[in-house]
Amino acid sequence: MANEFPFEISPMFEGERVRKDDMFVELAGPKSRGFELVRAASVDEIEDGKFTLIGPDISEMQEGSRHPYAMIYRIAGKLVEPDLEAIVERRNHDFQNYIQGYMHLNQRYDVWVRINKDAIKKGLKSFEQIAKATMMLFKNELPFIEKIEATYVTNPEEVEKQRAEAIKIYEARDARTRGLHDEDVDVFYGCTLCQSFAPTNVCVVTPDRISLCGAINWFDGRAAAKVDPEGPQFAIPKGEVIDKISGEYSGVNEKAVALSGGEYSRIRIHSFFEYPHTSCGCFEVVGFYIPEVDGIGWVDRDFTGTAPNGLAFSTMAGQTGGGKQIIGFLGVGVNYFRSPKFIQADGGWNRVIWMPKNLKEKIKADIPPELVDKLPTEEDVTDLKTLRDYLEKKQHPITQRWTKEEAAAETVAEAPAGAAPEWSMPAPAMGMPVGMPMVPMQFGGGEGMKLTFKNAKITIDRVVLRSKEK
Ligand code: SF4
Repeated sequence: MANEFPFEISPMFEGERVRKDDMFVELAGPKSRGFELVRAASVDEIEDGKFTLIGPDISEMQEGSRHPYAMIYRIAGKLVEPDLEAIVERRNHDFQNYIQGYMHLNQRYDVWVRINKDAIKKGLKSFEQIAKATMMLFKNELPFIEKIEATYVTNPEEVEKQRAEAIKIYEARDARTRGLHDEDVDVFYGCTLCQSFAPTNVCVVTPDRISLCGAINWFDGRAAAKVDPEGPQFAIPKGEVIDKISGEYSGVNEKAVALSGGEYSRIRIHSFFEYPHTSCGCFEVVGFYIPEVDGIGWVDRDFTGTAPNGLAFSTMAGQTGGGKQIIGFLGVGVNYFRSPKFIQADGGWNRVIWMPKNLKEKIKADIPPELVDKLPTEEDVTDLKTLRDYLEKKQHPITQRWTKEEAAAETVAEAPAGAAPEWSMPAPAMGMPVGMPMVPMQFGGGEGMKLTFKNAKITIDRVVLRSKEK
């Protein structure tokens, strides 16, 4: 059947990149608009295999041009229910990446597609070819889909109009988990869909933590595991609670460890620093530790500038992804900001010290009211100096941590000579990411030295001790 297409279709093309110089056309992405959406329908409503295009086709597009792009699928079958929409929608990313010369990135309203010039030379000329191949894959790989039809949109006004409706649908899906919490359920759900490019990544989806791609919530995981228990989404019985605040459970540790190929041994679902959740690369937002203020900044895909640490989203995303536990960076879905357990092991919102204006606007209603004006954006601060000044001026709760650290440092400095002095590392350095700038360590005077590390994770290649010259 695949022979009817002028391109090869295989999982081996997943991960294929279309660079700017090789690109015939760019669709949606950071400089345009788009979305993908799947809706469940009844069997009688769907004309199986039907394709509709609203707007210009590939053959009418100029080489090097950029266009808005929406992909809408309607699916039907005896087992198809609205709870499956998000799971099926997430597979659009996989299946479209099976198409040689076609690159699909991200999800929902963040999709970004490029078509390679070679694909055009080989005969790709219509979105119908793409849609038919994708629909074929949906039906082959997800047998509960009995009928499917697709509408693709490239007309700018129509994309805008339908995108606004799609966003309401995503929000309604996300809102379903608001009244449900981790302690209310015995089972979480896992997803290994992204192991094709991040082999050790296992997403753990709980009522209080949406997937980092933002596309799969607890209800979606449950629906997927029910309809295809051997598929990439599966149940994870919670097991024993090891630590309630950080969200560590014996069942999660067992399952995630087994599926990560032993890459790590523990996961704490609501922790930023200790045994954090892995990040595959599909995250909507990256959190990054700033040791100079002992706080955590967050940057989303849409932000094109640099954060106060001087780094852009793309640079930090490169550090964060790959399916490893990276101390000091964490990928999350936007909806995780709405969780009552948002990084609660590390101080929750009181630890948040920066985010881009657009992201802040998006989640403003969920920021604790007393913090809204204390949380700077790129409009308020530009670097670490202005960030620190802003936080101090606004009396952001993070400044209380500074006060405690300074007091601890003074106590050490005033320790009587001859007493065994404590060697103290200020809290900013605790659990700090490797390679991040470090706050100077504090040493007391006196004869011997006693090192005390509390909850610290430190890697030291070499320590050189020299006696003081008299
Ligand atoms: S980011 Fe996680 S939940 Fe989303 S598709 Fe990838 S593995 Fe699944």
